[in-house]
Order: sequence, then structure tokens, then C-alpha cells
Amino acid sequence: MNRSSKKLLVANRSEIACRIFQAAQEMGLATVALCAPGDENAKHVTEAQVVLPVPSYLDADSIVREAKKAGVDLIHPGYGFLSERSHFVRAVEAAGMGFLGPKPETMEALGGKIAAKEIAESLGIPTVPWAKIEMKSQSDDQLRLTALSAAKQAGDYPVLIKAHAGGGGKGMRVVRQESELMELLESAGREAQSSFGDGTLFFEKYIEGPRHIEVQVFGDGRGNGVHFFERECSLQRRHQKVWEEAPALRLPEATRQGLWESSLKLVRAMNYRSAGTVEYLVDEKGNYYFIEMNTRLQVEHPVSECITGFDLVHEQIELALLGDAYAIPDQGAVQAQGHAIEVRVYSEDPAQEFRPCTGVVSHLVWPSGPGIRVDRGIEVSQEIGTLFDAMCAKIIVHAPTRALAIKRMQYALNQTLIAGVGTNLEYLTRLAYDPKVVSGVVTTKTLDQEYQGFKPELSAFAASVLTEVLPLSTGSGEFRRNTGSLQESAQESLWRTVKL
Ligand code: ADP
Repeated sequence: MNRSSKKLLVANRSEIACRIFQAAQEMGLATVALCAPGDENAKHVTEAQVVLPVPSYLDADSIVREAKKAGVDLIHPGYGFLSERSHFVRAVEAAGMGFLGPKPETMEALGGKIAAKEIAESLGIPTVPWAKIEMKSQSDDQLRLTALSAAKQAGDYPVLIKAHAGGGGKGMRVVRQESELMELLESAGREAQSSFGDGTLFFEKYIEGPRHIEVQVFGDGRGNGVHFFERECSLQRRHQKVWEEAPALRLPEATRQGLWESSLKLVRAMNYRSAGTVEYLVDEKGNYYFIEMNTRLQVEHPVSECITGFDLVHEQIELALLGDAYAIPDQGAVQAQGHAIEVRVYSEDPAQEFRPCTGVVSHLVWPSGPGIRVDRGIEVSQEIGTLFDAMCAKIIVHAPTRALAIKRMQYALNQTLIAGVGTNLEYLTRLAYDPKVVSGVVTTKTLDQEYQGFKPELSAFAASVLTEVLPLSTGSGEFRRNTGSLQESAQESLWRTVKL
């Protein structure tokens, strides 16, 4: 097959587009980027061989039309945007291009949380106790009675209201007592309707302080599946992942086996195609409960790549190019080695409720060295506005042991400098030295409990400005770098030194 004549478009932006371009180039494919208004100087736009202007990254019709005109062969959706929209997959495939992700029917079947739970249950996969809420054509009194009985059915208080079409923690509310129920239902319904155009809600038993563990899977679309072990994503801020690790910590062997087997059952039963993630909550006894399947490549996929040595995007491209001739890796060939950790670097200010920061990136220093990977989406002189997601990069480390991976993450964060725009780097550095995080004894509540009202010494923006105005340069115009051995405390990190 002549790959050099093939073109791969990424229907996304920033770090994930750049990461996919790397795989495409390694495999001999030409790279095609989209550029929405306001994103002209973005890294993914400057990196691609061909750039297609489109009105928006969500404009499926324009994207398919422009891609077809440009002779694109394959489209990777990344995550977010159109990545889980089945109508986009159908349009891409109807136009004769390959979609690097699951089939549209699979997306439809697993896209809604209620339907996904029903499928999981039919396969004997444990789910959190739950109940549907029928909200249509009922009087207020009827609705109240229905909601009260559904809450009981879901295991009684506390219960969690969730949106069927949910994502990103939207439409989620914890109800601790009956008196709050109706008010929270109404606000969750409003948020779900405005975020997803679907106000359907359901209840789930609220598990106090669980861990979030997920399994990276891959299917060939013909009933064969393989897993790439599990990830621990318990460190979350308001239900959003901040710090991810592979493999998971402190997990009984029977639980790990159960998680992998349940996930593969789902992949095989659905004839799942390409990369996906099966998400679970795990309680302190090691019981696990399916919550949903994400039918796409996830932000945190690099930690699974680090411990297994597989490149998941390579696999996605191979599968799309070879079709029935693709040979899925044998489970035995997928071995986990060492420990990997990822943190998400955002242009946001922890001192101000994590509000997005804006500015023009003036200086960048990325960490490097053995076992350090940076998936980056920004460049010097790029303007960071509020039009797009605030994630600028992911720092990933891999080491033979978790203890060394933690040290490596501390080192990597201490080596990182982003000036001109505020970031959460101080917050992440603080986490990397936090005794709880270092011990690995964490739950999904740890960050919200321990870091509520977290106040860095300076606002993220002030820190970034100071790094710029202080005499940072040496005579040769290079950054003064922290050349000391691994610091014992975050107090001495590069960017803290710079601030003083
Ligand atoms: P979304 O798709 O909106 O991100 P998820 O269902 O994936 O929502 O859940 C996101 C996070 O919310 C989980 O990782 C967990 O921290 C928390 N969560 C979800 N369901 C429950 C539950 N039943 N009990 C306790 N926490 C939950």
C-alpha cells in the first residue's frame, strides 16, 4: 500500500492534533489540519502540511466538504468536539473517507449513559444502583412522587443526579436529603438541556469517596478485543481529571482481572472498533461498578502507551488502512512495565477559582530527559484566548517504579516554564509533593477536600509576568536553568526561584 499518497485530517486542535500528526508522519501519511477563526497561530495549524479553514471545529458539514475537496483519506476526531457524534461518522464514511474511531451504531448504543448501563447489565457487568426518572407530561406533584420513589430505587440518599447525554461533569448534582431533591433536579435538567440539547436525567447511588479506574481497550470491529491495562484517574477537581496514572494502585488482583474481563466483554459484544475506554468506580473494598464507556481516544491515553510501549494512534491508523487484514495485538504481547503519570497543564488561575487566563505566550521551557514526554499544544508568540479549551499541554513521565515516577514528575514540573499567560503549574507542582498524592492513597474527593480554596503564593498570571520581567537570561541569552540535583522541595523549583 502506498501510504505516502494518503492524507490524514485531524478534526480537532492543539495538543491532540499535534500528537496525532506525529503518528501520521511516522507512518508516512500527509497531515491536514483544520483552522477555525481565531486559531490562525495555533501550533497544530503551523505544523500541518495542509490547512483547511472552517467556520468552527463543530461544523461537521463544512469539515466533511473541505476534507473531501482536499482529497483526505482518513479523519481522526481527537477528543471533545465531534469525536462522539455519530452523525459526523456517518457523513465521513458516506463521503468515502475512513473514520479513526468506532462505528456510528456503537457510538449511538453506548453514547447515552442510561443505554450503556443497560448494555453493561445485560452482559453481567456490575453497575452502580440506578433508576430512570420519567419527567415528561407529569404535574409537579406527580413528578415529585416519581422522583422520590426513583431516588429510593437508586439506593436512597445521598444520590447523584446525572444527565443521560452527560459529559464533563455537566448536569451532575449530589442530593444529600429529600428536601433538596426538586430544586437540584430542576437545575440539573436545565444544565443538561443547555449543554447537550437533552434534559434526560437519571439517579445513581452516590458512592462516597470512590476511586475512578478505567480500562483502555481496543477492538478490531469484528468481535476481537485487547486491553492495555487500567488507569487510575481518582485525582479530580469537581469531577474533572487532573492527574492520571497507570497502572492503578492498591488494587486487589481479582479486581484488576475483573475490570479487564468486563471491559473486554463489552468490546467483544459490541464488535467495538478502534480505541475506547471503559470507566468504573471502585469502592474501598475493591468492588467495581461500570459507569460509562468513552468511545474515543482519551486525554490520558499516553500513560497506557508509556507502560505498554504501544502507540494507540498507530494502531488506529493501521486498522483503518488495513481493514479486515488488520491483526489485533495478542493480549499476551501487551505487557505493562513500570509506572506512568500524566498531569494536565491549563491556562487557568488556581488563585481565582481556576478561571481561564489569557495572554500571549512569551517564553516556554519544556522538561526533557529520560522517561519524560510532553504532548504540547502551544508555541511561543501564540495568543491564548478564551475561545477554546484551556489545556495547553500534558506532561507525562514513565519510570521503573512509582516512587521514581513521582520524583520524575517533580523534576519535570520544576523544569517547566510558561511565561506570558497564567497556568496551573504551581498547583500541579504542589500536588506532586503532596504526601497524600505521593502515598497514592487517594479518592475522587481528595482534591476537592484538601485543595478547596487553594491559594498559590502568587496568582498564576502574576507568576508568569514575573518570570518574564526578572533577569532570567544569562549573558548568552539562554534561560537560567535549575541545574541542581533533584530538589527535595517544591520551594526550590525553577519557576519558584524565578519569582523570588
Ligand atoms: P462525565 O461523563 O460527566 O464526566 P462520569 O459518569 O464519567 O461523568 O463521572 C465523572 C466523575 O464523577 C467520576 O469520575 C466520579 O468522580 C464522579 N462520579 C460519577 N458517578 C458517581 C457516583 N455514582 N458516585 C460518586 N461519584 C461519582
